[in-house]
This record gives sequence, structure tokens and C-alpha cells, in this order.
Amino acid sequence: MRMNDLITKKRDGKALSNEEIAFMIEGYTKGSLPDYQMSAMLMAIYYQGMNDEETTCLTKCMADSGELLDLSAIKGIKVDKHSTGGVGDKASIVLVPVIAACNLPVAKLSGRGLGFTGGTIDKLESFPSFNTDIDTGTFTDNINNIGAAIMSQTEALCPADKKLYALRDVTATVESMPLIASSIMSKKIAAGADAIVLEVMSGSGAFMKNDEDARKLSEIMVRIGSLAGRKCVAVITDMDEPLGRSVGNSLEIIEALETLKGRGNRELMEVIKTLGSQMLLLGERVENEAQGEAMIEEVISNGKAIEKMRQIVSAQGGDPHAVDDYTLLPQASIVEQIESPQSGYVESIRCDEVGMCVHTLGGGRSVKDDPVDLSVGLVINKKVGDFVNVGEPLAEIHANSRQKADEAKQRFIEAYSFSPSPVSHLKLIHGIVK
Ligand code: URA
Repeated sequence: MRMNDLITKKRDGKALSNEEIAFMIEGYTKGSLPDYQMSAMLMAIYYQGMNDEETTCLTKCMADSGELLDLSAIKGIKVDKHSTGGVGDKASIVLVPVIAACNLPVAKLSGRGLGFTGGTIDKLESFPSFNTDIDTGTFTDNINNIGAAIMSQTEALCPADKKLYALRDVTATVESMPLIASSIMSKKIAAGADAIVLEVMSGSGAFMKNDEDARKLSEIMVRIGSLAGRKCVAVITDMDEPLGRSVGNSLEIIEALETLKGRGNRELMEVIKTLGSQMLLLGERVENEAQGEAMIEEVISNGKAIEKMRQIVSAQGGDPHAVDDYTLLPQASIVEQIESPQSGYVESIRCDEVGMCVHTLGGGRSVKDDPVDLSVGLVINKKVGDFVNVGEPLAEIHANSRQKADEAKQRFIEAYSFSPSPVSHLKLIHGIVK
């Protein structure tokens, strides 16, 4: 079999056979297929798509590219949660300790930033010496001992996704339904959880730009999950503005920690309660959503959730003092306001552009293995539906270079549009696919 022929076949819109997909994933994982051929294949898939059978086979081959974790030694139903990616999406960082504090074990396999979105692994590395490259033994031990662990794909677990994810990030091939579905579901299947809640984002700051595509992606992933014998639910959430208030690695960690301490904003809390109650339902800890939401509020208000976060940070080699002392997290040298160029109601925010502002500041990667500046980002003051006076702050920018700060500020302002008449706040939850 020759990779050239497979690229040609996909470029011309034909379906790849199971053997061809297996050949390609095995070859790329082992290093016998070069990045340039895989990049061409990714672009062909981006344009031509894949049918359900191809997507399911791609997922299975990627999951089988490394070891499949057996979590059966851990008592109870193990849940995992994954986002399709958005701007300012720190929901996983809040949910892992919250759900573990509700006594439901969480086995979380996460990724790095992708395209204009951030990644849980990069964000967690804001904690000094936090180790996300843990081996599978430490992963299961931590879940047994403290109820939660978060690891990144390793050479052992889903290596095909580790390599493809990094390649897609820098070849403009992220926004593809089969590539997203297989990337997420292969990790979830390999990590061994019994139940999976998917946060499928829809809007300008997501890879699915509308609810119709978000629903299609949800249905494919839920189907793949059930074929693999996992309980699976997808929640479609809004991404027409950043989730919560902060965008940027360490700034999002601070917002997540504030939420765990009961000082979270309304938007983030609504998403946390919706996703979290689905996790608790799948994990059979509660009988309905209302009970789930009440349990989440309780572990936040009684301090169990933030205490669980200290335990997770500490168990993975991080400094737990940073949970309370934010000066231990990476700090930017320039912090200043971005003033509104006009008065009016915020009508819309180009959310992908907000993500790109953080990239401009150095908070994302342009080529594989680029270092990421964890300290930079934005804290947003005005969101869709809010009124702003000219000169009032739209956001606070955190930067380490004068030139990059000016460039990002301009880009940020251009992402906003204003209306003289009132505009409704955005609806955060767009649907649930079971
Ligand atoms: N998250 C993933 O793990 N993969 C994607 O392709 C998108 C979001």
C-alpha cells in the first residue's frame, strides 16, 4: 500500500477502507509516514470529509495505537469529560475536582491548545511543576487515592492522537468533524472511563460554527461511544463569546480557582452545573439534574471542591500553595485596560478573534513544540448584551511585549460590534444529545 495512493483517493472524495485507515495510522504513529504526507491527507479529509464507517474505524485505530487502560480495579463508575474546544473554556478544570468531591471518580485525559482555542494541559502547567505527563500507573493510583487524575496523551496512551493533534494545530486542519470526533473519542476510549460527558461548543469561537453542525458532531461521538460500550451524553454549549471572563492559560486557572471557591461568575457556573449534573447522572450518583446541581453547589460552598483541587495539584507534583496564592502562577509584566472605542450595547464578539489575540500575545503555538507564554491573556469586562460607555474598559490585557500588546488590543477592539439598542444576553445551553 502506498500513502500517495491513499492521499489521491481521499483528495478525489472516495472512502478509505478499514485496511487503508489502519495502514495510515500505524505508519504515522511508528514514524514510517512523514509529516508532509500526513498533512496532505489531513487536508484531503478536511475538504472531503469521512463517512460514519471511516470515522468509526479511524477512532478505533487511533485508540488502538497505544495501550487501552483498564480501570476495572477502581471501584464504581468512572466518568470522563471532554470539550470540543472553545475560547476561555476552563470547564474541565473546575469539573474534575467538583465531581471528585461528589465522590465520583474522574479519569481525565486532556489535550493542549488547538488552533485558536486553549487546552487543559497547557492551562494546568501554569501550576509550578504540575506534571501532566504521568504514566498510566500513577493515573490509576491517583484516581484510587484521591478520586481524580488528569493526564495528557503519552507514548503509551493514544500516541496517534498526540502526533495528529500537534500536526493539525499547525496545518489549518482542526475544524473537521471526523478529525475532531476521532481525536476526542479515541482518547476517551483508550482512557477507559465507563461514562463520558462531551461539551460540544457551537459558535464563532468553536470549531463547529452553528448548532446544526454541533448536533451532527454530538451524534457521531455519542454513537461511537455507545459502539465502544460507553455511556455517553453530549451537551451543546454556546461559544459566540468566551466562556466566563478570562482567556489565557494562568488567567483561566485563576478564574477556575475562584469558581471552586464559590466566587464564580453566573455564565461559567451555569455551564458547570449543566455538564456536572450530566456527569453525576451517568455516574449514578444522583437521580435527576436538579439533585446533581444541588450537590455541585454544596461541594463548592462547603470547601470540598477547592480542597480536592489542592489534592490533585499536589498529587501531580504541583505546588498546592498556588491554589491560594496566585502570585505563584505565571504573571505578565504589562497589565492594562482596553478601552471601548464607542458607547452602546455589545452586539457580538468574534470569539475566534479573541482566541487569536491570545495567540498574538504568545499564549498559543504557531509551529509544533513552540513554547507557550502561560502568563498572557485577557480578562473580559463587557460581554454580549452589556452596555458600555466610550472609554470604559472592555477588557484587561496581560502581555509581555509592548508591540504584541498593541497588536492584540487593536485586534480585540475589532472583534467587537456595538448596537445603539438593547441586545439580549446569549443563551448558554443549546441542547443535550443522549
Ligand atoms: N479536543 C480534542 O481532543 N481534539 C479535537 O480535535 C478537538 C478538541
